[in-house]
Amino acid sequence: MKGILVILDGLGDLPCKQLGEKTPLEAAEMPNLDFLAARGEMGYMYPVKPGFIPQSDEAIVSIFGNDLNNSSRGQLEARGTDLKLIRGDLALRVNFATIDSLEKGNIIDRRAGRTLTTLEAEILSKAINKITLPCGFVFKPTGQHRAVLVLRGGFSDNITGNDSAYLMGIRESSKIGAFKATDDDENTQYTVNILKEFADKVFHVLNNHPINEERRKKGLLPANYLLMRGAGIETPKLKFYKKWLSVSYMPLEIGFARTSGMKVFSFDYPKLKGFDSYQNLREGLEKACDFSVKVLQKNHKDFDYAYVHIKETDFPGHDNKPLEKKSMLEYIDKTLFEFLRKFVPPNRIRVIVTGDHSTPCKLKDHSADPVPVLFYNVSPPKKKSKETGFFSRFNPYQKKNADVKIIGNDSEAMGDLKGEMKATAEKFCEKNAKNGKLGMILGKDLLEKTGFNK
Ligand code: ZN
Ligand code: ZN
Repeated sequence: MKGILVILDGLGDLPCKQLGEKTPLEAAEMPNLDFLAARGEMGYMYPVKPGFIPQSDEAIVSIFGNDLNNSSRGQLEARGTDLKLIRGDLALRVNFATIDSLEKGNIIDRRAGRTLTTLEAEILSKAINKITLPCGFVFKPTGQHRAVLVLRGGFSDNITGNDSAYLMGIRESSKIGAFKATDDDENTQYTVNILKEFADKVFHVLNNHPINEERRKKGLLPANYLLMRGAGIETPKLKFYKKWLSVSYMPLEIGFARTSGMKVFSFDYPKLKGFDSYQNLREGLEKACDFSVKVLQKNHKDFDYAYVHIKETDFPGHDNKPLEKKSMLEYIDKTLFEFLRKFVPPNRIRVIVTGDHSTPCKLKDHSADPVPVLFYNVSPPKKKSKETGFFSRFNPYQKKNADVKIIGNDSEAMGDLKGEMKATAEKFCEKNAKNGKLGMILGKDLLEKTGFNK
């Protein structure tokens, strides 16, 4: 194997009050990642382009050098399940959501509180699949609030969904969006009509469904509506990555890796049984790290590159839980990165660690902020690394104070503190990445710039 690309979903962040104005990545103790940082370069990346707020699919499609117009989230997610698609089938990504009513159309929660259990989603989906439409369709839950809808037949995808949160890099609204045709074709209008009929019927089926009555009694939000986005009828035309393996375990990433010609290694995600979605995420993260290590150990001789996508780190950003995000990062460091620290140097494997986009806790959403990039390229450690090892192990706050001083002082003082400033440059975080040697990278150039995929 020549290289491993680790994407930590939603990695980038902004300073958080709960972490003493540090970002989760700055606050997290990650000695193994810092080990790699000390032997490589840092930079920062706009996954799509500056000013653009990416969804996960837009980010990975772009990072792997593809044009966004050649892909759709619906198709990728459907291809990440066992659904068989034929040409003309319209696929959409769906969220179980909570709204007040069809008339008012206010979205109370885009994810039904993120507490929908696997069993509840399955029961609601059965009810949804009984709805009568003028065409065939399949509705498939894919974990927590996520699902996929496929309408069978010759539909048009020149439409916008009712999920107004996501429209090509622009931020959300709290109202249900209207399905809209983006061309004058009759078939497109027909598609819009069918989707509208479906969404309305779903509300009537779900709103007073016993599962939702039960949820209301428990003080939980009802999953009474479906938000749909990413309509697609064509197989995404993506670049082929033949000698790559991928560890991915959510429909989008599985579908993307499959469609890109990678060999996908996946596992069954733990079911959400109680209502503590973070308990479920922690179990999922444990499984993901453990599984990634095993796959890399077993298969590194048979593939040139690996794309490992760790999904859990995105969620605490959406929920403004910086401590949770920090502890997830520390867990990944103790498991996956500890393994890589021992595994990659003797095998001379290069490593990229980055995010697909920033999900700053205080914004509770993706943002256009660049993501930090770490490129470990098997170079000898920088001279300062031993001394900083001491600081980072015993007094992480020391470095922070030094930083503040540097910024606040005049240039002479800066000269005095230069040594210390260098010392801080080894921790992998947003700030150091901005000053890193790799500089600014556009997502589409990442693999080229790092010599991956050669
Ligand atoms: Zn993402
Ligand atoms: Zn996200």
